Amino acid sequence: MPHVIIIGAGLAGSLLSIYLAKRGITVDVYEARDDMRLHDVAAGRSINLALSDRGIAALREVGMDEYMLAEAVPMYGRMIHSVAGETKLMPYSGRQGEYINSVSRAGLNIALMNEADKYRNVTFHFNERCTEFDCKTGVAAFSSGNSVSADTVIATDGAGSAVRHAMINGGVERFDFSQKWLEHGYKELHIPPGAGGEFQMERNALHIWPRHKFMMIALPNFDGSFTCTLFFAHKGDNSFDEISRGSAMDFFEANFPDAIPLMPTLIEDYLHNPVGNLGTVKCFPWNAGGKALLLGDSAHAVVPFYGQGMNCAFEDVRVLDALIERHGSDWEAVYNEYGELRKANTDAIADMAEENFYEMRDAVADPVFLRKRELETKLEQSYADYFSKYSMVTFREDLPYAIAKEKGNAQDRLLMQICSEVESVADIDLESVLALVRRLS
Ligand SMILES: Cc1cc2nc3c(=O)[nH]c(=O)nc-3n(C[C@H](O)[C@H](O)[C@H](O)COP(=O)(O)OP(=O)(O)OC[C@H]3O[C@@H](n4cnc5c(N)ncnc54)[C@H](O)[C@@H]3O)c2cc1C
Repeated sequence: MPHVIIIGAGLAGSLLSIYLAKRGITVDVYEARDDMRLHDVAAGRSINLALSDRGIAALREVGMDEYMLAEAVPMYGRMIHSVAGETKLMPYSGRQGEYINSVSRAGLNIALMNEADKYRNVTFHFNERCTEFDCKTGVAAFSSGNSVSADTVIATDGAGSAVRHAMINGGVERFDFSQKWLEHGYKELHIPPGAGGEFQMERNALHIWPRHKFMMIALPNFDGSFTCTLFFAHKGDNSFDEISRGSAMDFFEANFPDAIPLMPTLIEDYLHNPVGNLGTVKCFPWNAGGKALLLGDSAHAVVPFYGQGMNCAFEDVRVLDALIERHGSDWEAVYNEYGELRKANTDAIADMAEENFYEMRDAVADPVFLRKRELETKLEQSYADYFSKYSMVTFREDLPYAIAKEKGNAQDRLLMQICSEVESVADIDLESVLALVRRLS
């Protein structure tokens, strides 16, 4: 029976353990943190996440999709909040049934671990932080003093991966690596449920307060609360460094006045919650022969503005599983083909995620962009074969990210041009736009 070690029992590692267990593979999962089912382990980042079709498709294959969606809050569009407190809903798609889902990160992680625990061939080892990995022998060493090896190691240990570190430091020849930090970080804030447990804003939307140099978003939680995330520069004017105890309330009053009455612990949260960093990691090759593979954020951490990091990591698992089906436990063959298939796609979603930061922060306040979204919604309502770039990325699990990026960018340029030449979308002939779009592909 093949034996695989997974390092990291986060979202990708826990899902992967189920896929491998179903194939009869013996799986040992080593996780740095304590068991989050027994102790309240701070996940360290984002309490909730947007789960969309690519992630759902991967959960479906192991029978976990319906279970997860039962406790998700559907989000049908972006609710834009102006400084004056006006709101406008921009649907994600013009088609029925195309929406994203706000799910609890810990809830999803725990559900995946519980599912994996049903298999006798999966064992979790907690409080085991990998400190070193030998790319030649495949031996992983842990802070506990344990050293282990198996037929192969799959590293799902996230953006700061210890296994990737070993690959960079001579473990893999000609290893390409880049890490790019965004000048913005993030901090989570909280909107509790109302007195009767009700949502205090529209529940079925992802709320955005776009303010050009910074923005705040809020995703609904199943219990009636919202988790807000302030994306803000680390340094300079209007930054985490600059806005401190004395100026925080003035800053929120000037920029997010409609949110303040909903946030009774605002200043406390702002002062006490940690600031997270945001960055993009690209590297290649992802494997050390057949000894190890990087998967999920360890291979390609992306900024969160397309809501795709986890969805992409889940898609990684699905693609890898299909290759294990084809090559069995010839790990080197599996990993080489996996890298060839996936790299262009993960690069594409990394680039689109960065671009979407500027779209969410700036463009949603731009009238031409708003007309373009309106036009796209109309096109999606009228034509089954029209998909916006957002829809291609989010709702087309059959379409590789790289194709979504190429087609989507060409389409975006065309539609922005058309919308810059009219005052109203009512002046645009949909048939002729569609003909131009079809000519692009
Ligand atoms: C603010 C924010 C919002 C986000 N929103 C979304 C969203 O809406 N939708 C979406 O799809 N994605 C979102 N993401 C991205 C998503 O969180 C990641 O892509 C996803 O968590 C990647 O899963 P992973 O399992 O690869 O890594 P992780 O979730 O980081 O899991 C890594 C695991 O490995 C463990 N570990 C780390 N180092 C070691 C070690 N040395 N030894 C042993 N174990 C170790 C960690 O404790 C952890 O359990 C968001 C990210 C951020 C920061």
